[in-house]
Amino acid sequence: MSTQPNNSQMNDDRVIVIGAGLAGLSCAFELVEQGKSVLVLEAASYVGGRTGNWNERGMEVESGFHKFIGYYKALPDLLERAGIDLDDMLVWETTMEVRHPNADEYGEFGLDVIHAPLKTLSGVLGNNNFITPADKASLIPFLAAGFKECVSSPEELDLISVLDFANQHGVSEQALQRIVEPLSSGIFFMPLEKYSAYAFFGLFLPGIPRIHKMRIGAFTGGMTDVMCAPLAAAITQKGGQVRINAPVIRLLYDSEGLKGVELENGEQLSATRVVVATNIRRSQQLLEEHFSEHEWFQPFLSLDAMPHVTAQFESELPLLPEDRTTFGPGTDIGSFGEQSRTTFRGRPGRASIILVNPDELIDLPDEEVWERTKQGLVDIGLAEGVSSVTDYRIVRGNENFYRISPGNEPKRPEQMTPIQGLYLAGDYTKQPMFTTMEGAVISGQKAAAGILNI
Ligand SMILES: Cc1cc2nc3c(=O)[nH]c(=O)nc-3n(C[C@H](O)[C@H](O)[C@H](O)COP(=O)(O)OP(=O)(O)OC[C@H]3O[C@@H](n4cnc5c(N)ncnc54)[C@H](O)[C@@H]3O)c2cc1C
Repeated sequence: MSTQPNNSQMNDDRVIVIGAGLAGLSCAFELVEQGKSVLVLEAASYVGGRTGNWNERGMEVESGFHKFIGYYKALPDLLERAGIDLDDMLVWETTMEVRHPNADEYGEFGLDVIHAPLKTLSGVLGNNNFITPADKASLIPFLAAGFKECVSSPEELDLISVLDFANQHGVSEQALQRIVEPLSSGIFFMPLEKYSAYAFFGLFLPGIPRIHKMRIGAFTGGMTDVMCAPLAAAITQKGGQVRINAPVIRLLYDSEGLKGVELENGEQLSATRVVVATNIRRSQQLLEEHFSEHEWFQPFLSLDAMPHVTAQFESELPLLPEDRTTFGPGTDIGSFGEQSRTTFRGRPGRASIILVNPDELIDLPDEEVWERTKQGLVDIGLAEGVSSVTDYRIVRGNENFYRISPGNEPKRPEQMTPIQGLYLAGDYTKQPMFTTMEGAVISGQKAAAGILNI
């Protein structure tokens, strides 16, 4: 079968980017800045991918509870160059909260050594009713060894789970549940026994030299509205094109090489360079058709994806007195926050919750997931907020993340493939910031650098 594009849009100089998540948008932005002709094709009706918001059966939702970490570099730099003012886009939080069903009090931890130094110090030294000094001290050998091994032998650290590594280094049960669990499962949903120790330490490692930048930003609106749509507009303004509702069904590739892409509606678009910037599973599906036998793609094609499940609700009362990041270890609640004063204003109460153990929840009906969410909130002392819920949505995704389990790190592919003109971008590709917004941006920039030959 000929894979010659059948439409009149022959454009040999053009780069096609498949996917308008942060990886695709960051790649496109770097390319248009260098004067390249770029067409971004996005399957959904909105840009942003996992950093998106949309209306789900009458309720404004997001892919899930997202926080902008102060030590990110590539993402804020990109946004500033695109003319997006971080002070308009974010509200900075200086503390976070951990609630455990068996604790007498919740723990409050300062995050910001510059703007809230006393709260930060007292969080470490205090909170003794939440976690005893001896339990805190049991973390020291674990942290020291983990950060050291993360630098000296990352491949070996990736072969062990956080749970096994913590047990090897004598972390107490209380410290494991109240500190390690929020900082692992609370962030990337996986239970401790399935969570790579390398992913745990590697995420925080870049923050150590930038500790003065450590704080957490909440978005001042839905992420499409305040971040990704303005980024797409900046790309368009610089001469690029961004098409939504344009799902790519296959790459046009034959013995003569890469020719372009075909959309689900049969439209074929030519390009000599194509960046696959979709989520992991879609990327694997697009590549499998042509490269399943190719040695370079084998490890990546065997890289497992992990699901995510979130619960979002509106209520007559705010769930928490403050909009700040909160963790619920020991329950199905990972990290969550009240958002009625930040991201989704104009409602008396609005909360977003990432649920842990998504493998267990992904196929359950919404009603059952919701019952477990409510139970988790009640268990950590938030029954009052739960009783005033007026509407909820369960938002889930089955194939967006690479699984951050032991042994998976070497399967992540580089952005440059051995196929001429074919590049990959996405948080799953090889970059140091794991499955984060920062990682997605770095991956897009690496793909762009490959195209620009820099
Ligand atoms: C619940 C949740 C909480 C998170 N919390 C945080 C956080 O607090 N901090 C943080 O830094 N990160 C967080 N993340 C991770 C962050 O959202 C991702 O790492 C990042 O958005 C990934 O961007 P991406 O461009 O690689 O992929 P995506 O955002 O998944 O973008 C891929 C795009 O490709 C499109 N696409 C797929 N197939 C096709 C096709 N065939 N044709 C055309 N387009 C296609 C998709 O529609 C999508 O828009 C969270 C993610 C989730 C889901």
